[in-house]
Amino acid sequence: MISPTDIKAFKEAVGSENVFDQESDRYAYSYDSAVLDSVVPGLVVRPLTSEALGKAIRLCNENELPLVVRGSGTNLSGGVVPKETDAVVILTNALNNILEINEQDLYAVVQPGVVTAQFAAAVARRGLFYPPDPGSQSVSTLAGNVAENAGGLRGLKYGVTKDYVMGVDFFNANGELIKSGSRTVKCVTGLNLSSLMVASEGTMGVFEKIIFKLVPPPEASKAMMAIFNDINDASEAVANIIAAKIVPCTLELLDNFTIRTVEDFRKAGLPVEAAAMLLIEVDGHPAQVEDEAEKVISICKKSGAQDVQLARNAAEKDIIWQARRDALPALARVRPTTILEDATVPRSKIPAMIEAITSIAKKYNLTIGTFGHAGDGNLHPTILTDKRDKEEFARVEEAIDEIFDRALSMHGTLSGEHGIGIAKAKWMEKETSAATLEYSRLLKKAVDPNYILNPGNIIGGKDVSRTA
Ligand SMILES: Cc1cc2nc3c(=O)[nH]c(=O)nc-3n(C[C@H](O)[C@H](O)[C@H](O)COP(=O)(O)OP(=O)(O)OC[C@H]3O[C@@H](n4cnc5c(N)ncnc54)[C@H](O)[C@@H]3O)c2cc1C
Repeated sequence: MISPTDIKAFKEAVGSENVFDQESDRYAYSYDSAVLDSVVPGLVVRPLTSEALGKAIRLCNENELPLVVRGSGTNLSGGVVPKETDAVVILTNALNNILEINEQDLYAVVQPGVVTAQFAAAVARRGLFYPPDPGSQSVSTLAGNVAENAGGLRGLKYGVTKDYVMGVDFFNANGELIKSGSRTVKCVTGLNLSSLMVASEGTMGVFEKIIFKLVPPPEASKAMMAIFNDINDASEAVANIIAAKIVPCTLELLDNFTIRTVEDFRKAGLPVEAAAMLLIEVDGHPAQVEDEAEKVISICKKSGAQDVQLARNAAEKDIIWQARRDALPALARVRPTTILEDATVPRSKIPAMIEAITSIAKKYNLTIGTFGHAGDGNLHPTILTDKRDKEEFARVEEAIDEIFDRALSMHGTLSGEHGIGIAKAKWMEKETSAATLEYSRLLKKAVDPNYILNPGNIIGGKDVSRTA
């Protein structure tokens, strides 16, 4: 429990109206978007200024209170589920100003709590482009994106969040402001601490400000839907498009179960008999777009597509992308519990990975819909289950183990974009090594000796760290 004296100190630091100590308020911060047991934190604080944020962090450190820094709570790996009941959740979503958009030097400076889609829209209004587009962008914060190194539909051509981070100013565990990176295209001053902050999941510091690179927007784009009778042909088409040296901005796959579920959700006339669909967009200079669209259509047909439908206007394009946007909400309606995984493989292994997921679903008698970023090997096998059914859930856990094992055996990774959090921490050593974990724990101990910053995420709990 957090003592009344500590609560009073937090109220003085951030203003009493920004401190929530009632259980009904704290309950709202006991979970995130991962399927995990909830833990109600001891206190929730919502600083309105950078200065107040620094003070709140320092108070946590002085009192050795675990600190869970939270954006919008959309992460899928338990990254902001408190691990202890005396945890203090610090919300950075009130620090949500875009401080600068620089059209001449192609960068922007933001506070941590800016919502991703609002930032992308503000940048677009100034004629520029911020490509990372996680499916949660209308809710997620930019700090959450950096802390998870979020990806999205445009990852194949434009990269992911890390490719746009030029600098991060962050508070260390003691509430002191550390500066890293710069507004310049090139900067090699000092250790690259900004890179250490990317994907750090709140374990190494609390972001106060982020500098993002911006790029010019593409002049034109074309979207198409390729329909396949055999999912292996769809995977082959992905490999053949890349082998032809065409890099679409988006190259997504939906399996038959997902197509049927999406059509059931919103009648859009999708090909429900198809074994798989590829949703593809090419962008760039208009002449290049014309040329690439033609080539992609031809490659899909040669790879076995039964039909390729090119969107002729904005409305048809929207039908294509709405189908992809609907995949998760549609699947989530099927059973009470939805587990969205993101084991990722080198893209040449996509056919083998799809086959593995299908056989694992059969072996454990589970419903798994598969969709995702086929172009960059990042599939989302989505397990539809009921957490309350203990026997079925035990099979789900075995199936997830096996999905990770199969991905790792193909030189893949546990997570392409959703992060490790507490949900995947137990598999870390399998993908990396005991020495890698030891190194990470020593690093953590050096910058956070009291082990207050999001303890448990990525490298395990406090006890583990103390043995390091
Ligand atoms: C429907 C849905 C679709 C999604 N689609 C995608 C997708 O396409 N691609 C993808 O990559 N992810 C996706 N996600 C996952 C999720 O949205 C991302 O991980 C996102 O980056 C989390 O942002 P957030 O603001 O919600 O952060 P939170 O969930 O609140 O936190 C995420 C991590 O960031 C840390 N953090 C938050 N604020 C700070 C700060 N100020 N300083 C330091 N650390 C901080 C937290 O401690 C935590 O470890 C999806 C999630 C949902 C629910």
